[in-house]
Amino acid sequence: MLRSIRAQLSLSIMLILLLTVALISVLSNWIINNEFEDYITRQEHQRSESIVTDLGNRYDSLKGGWDHNLLHTIGMYSLYDGYLLKIYSIDGTLLWDAENHDMSLCGQIMGEISTRMSQAKKHGDFVTNTYDIIRSGTKLGSVSIRYYGPFFFTENDYLFINTLNTVLLAVALLSTGVAVIAGGLLARRITQPVVKTAYIATQIAQGNYNLRFDSTPNAKELEEMGRAMNHLTQALSDQESLRKRLTSDVAHELRTPLSAVGSYLEAMTEGLWEATPERLQSCHEEIKRLGVLVADLERLAKIEDGNLQLNMANTDLFEIVQTAVHNLEPKAMKKELSLFIEGDPVIVEADRERMIQVVMNLLSNAILYTQMHGHIRMKVWKDHQAGLIRVEDDGIGIAEDELPFIFERFYRTDKSRNRKTGGTGIGLTIAKSIVEAHGGKIEVTSAVGMGSCFTVTLPEK
Ligand code: ADP
Repeated sequence: MLRSIRAQLSLSIMLILLLTVALISVLSNWIINNEFEDYITRQEHQRSESIVTDLGNRYDSLKGGWDHNLLHTIGMYSLYDGYLLKIYSIDGTLLWDAENHDMSLCGQIMGEISTRMSQAKKHGDFVTNTYDIIRSGTKLGSVSIRYYGPFFFTENDYLFINTLNTVLLAVALLSTGVAVIAGGLLARRITQPVVKTAYIATQIAQGNYNLRFDSTPNAKELEEMGRAMNHLTQALSDQESLRKRLTSDVAHELRTPLSAVGSYLEAMTEGLWEATPERLQSCHEEIKRLGVLVADLERLAKIEDGNLQLNMANTDLFEIVQTAVHNLEPKAMKKELSLFIEGDPVIVEADRERMIQVVMNLLSNAILYTQMHGHIRMKVWKDHQAGLIRVEDDGIGIAEDELPFIFERFYRTDKSRNRKTGGTGIGLTIAKSIVEAHGGKIEVTSAVGMGSCFTVTLPEK
């Protein structure tokens, strides 16, 4: 079974954090407890030594004996601290014994210590160490000290270590909680854009192109992915609307001449209309229009085939422009347009026939979309190892929002459509394909009512 990235990420992040928390808790607990036990053991050893020194200091060397009251005081103090003393004189006589003195108190104190240690889960037993009591190098007697070994906790020690363990446990639990929440949040943050991408992709597959990444994720790669996705959706959406427009355009382009010819012929065969040469001529015109459209489509299909064979040779762009102007001069004269050519010969490697086709396309558009008595300027020049041709008119112009589409097949601006100028909307598509096959580019600037300016750039080689 496949698990979601989010679940896998959350689980991995949580596991790593939990492992870290557990390791830190266990290690710190172990180190602190060990250190504390070492400290207590050292303390207890020192305490035994200080009892022996204390006893030595209490010996009255003038009288050559022990003060029993002092021995009793030291013995009782030690007993309350958990040390049972048996004090002997130099000849081995028992001077003071905690158990003899108060058996039940000894039992109670030892019992308390045993219980505390078993509660703390520290196992040991009572040990007895015997020390000589020595002062200034002379042995004065001996003392045997009995206590819970190797170490024991006083009530305060026990309280301290208990509190410490509780605090450590609380910190571990708190860190675990934070680890779980942080892991979940982090995974969510990483996977959210991925989930959204998948969702948008599914929507695209279902034909919905309106979804976009609105918030940008704050990681570089995810941001790039979001941008790429938005770009893709936009491109697909544009393509889709173009495709719809294209189909309806083909239908529209075919329907008008077909229905005209159809109704003429119907009327003539039914005897409603006489088949005059003018009527037959107009049928012929419509069929010619259809022929042009089909020929344009064929040319486009050939060029976009990808196997466009170019006859590359050294070609003068200025001569190409002159040829195009020569071919279209009659059309321009009909509209009484002024044509200007400017520039010098510029030699580039290109397919002469195809480039004449490109320039004729641009020039015939300029003638078509410029009013009577308008002006068309053409310029040829060289710049940075590239040859450039410009065709500029002061005609109807193209709206800014339509500019990105004019090179798409069948695209005709609303203005040119309204004027019924009769173009097929394929000319610029063909021009662009040819220029790009040469490794060049074609650009346009235009303003409605001011005119348009098309610039073709071709690399020298
Ligand atoms: P068409 O055969 O319709 O001219 P093109 O592909 O050559 O097709 O041009 C596409 C559209 O771009 C035209 O229908 C027209 O609306 C617009 N266009 C092209 N050249 C010009 C121009 N010089 N001035 C204004 N509009 C232009």
